[in-house]
Amino acid sequence: MYNTEQIAEELLKRAVELGASDIHIFPKNGKSLVQLRVDNKLFPIKWLTREQAERVISHFKFLSGMDIGEKRRPQNGSMNFMVREQIVGLRLSSLPAAETETLVIRLIPRKSIVPIERLALFPETARKILALMKHSHGLFIFSGPTGSGKTTTLYSLLHYAKTFIHRNIITLEDPIENVSEDVLQVQINEKAGISYSVGLKAALRHDPDIIMVGEIRDAETAKIAVRAALTGHLILSTMHTRNAAGAISRLLEFGVAHSEIQQTLIAVSAQRLLELKCPVCEGECSPYCHYGKRNKRASVYELLHGKELSRLLDEGVKGEEHEYTYRLLEDEINKAVALGFAREEEYDRWVYK
Ligand SMILES: [Zn+2]
Repeated sequence: MYNTEQIAEELLKRAVELGASDIHIFPKNGKSLVQLRVDNKLFPIKWLTREQAERVISHFKFLSGMDIGEKRRPQNGSMNFMVREQIVGLRLSSLPAAETETLVIRLIPRKSIVPIERLALFPETARKILALMKHSHGLFIFSGPTGSGKTTTLYSLLHYAKTFIHRNIITLEDPIENVSEDVLQVQINEKAGISYSVGLKAALRHDPDIIMVGEIRDAETAKIAVRAALTGHLILSTMHTRNAAGAISRLLEFGVAHSEIQQTLIAVSAQRLLELKCPVCEGECSPYCHYGKRNKRASVYELLHGKELSRLLDEGVKGEEHEYTYRLLEDEINKAVALGFAREEEYDRWVYK
């Protein structure tokens, strides 16, 4: 007979071993069925009695910072789990169902750190981004939708900053996707009162050179980030905007003064992850093909910095017909298509308005 903690741990271990993306605990026929999603297919691995399932769900709710007394409202939480000396990030969500609560646990895949020269399709952009990392203070924003590779880019840059320019780094993350020994990582937990703004204030007292703020999504975080940038820190963060100019509008909406943006913002990037095709072979790559050994996906970046950034801040975006003086994502994706690295569909997928 296993106790609750052992059942919970066993489920997580099985999920990691089988490379599952999710664990589902759903009521069925008076009991509860645990299923794993592997390669997009759900399959059952264990039956629990209703009582066991309730205790296991409570256990996970407690560990991930949810309110265990609350069973009638949907809740979300996150936690990390150590398996085979590897830390796995988990996102949990509970939902009240007719008979009992249900729980879904998403396992966040660990991201490996890849140098930006390999992430970026065009080496020229990678070099510019690395040069910007040498600033001792300021704000560098990475924009793009979910799945555009922002986190991968940030991890790569932090690793570079730690290894080659020996910066002291603190990250505020939700969730922590890749645990690194070189960097002090703080897990954001809104329910436990550790929001981005609270974490950022605390991080500043630890004397970092660089702070990575997982996301700027409210006015308070935006203002503290700008203040931190003004007082000698390099702040890296992400925003969910469609393009680089959009991040500036968002900062203004958050009540950051135009003059503060001018003083702190060193660059904004917007990125997309393109599916690559071989520019040489038709269909399957020949084993002798040089390009065949390259990554299957690569990032393209719109990079707003320097003179172009100053100009945009001075003049603003003048409506739909605004003439941009820097290379837009559209231009970069077009170039990728023209050079035969990406299919035309990629342009439609990312640039269609
Ligand atoms: Zn090829």
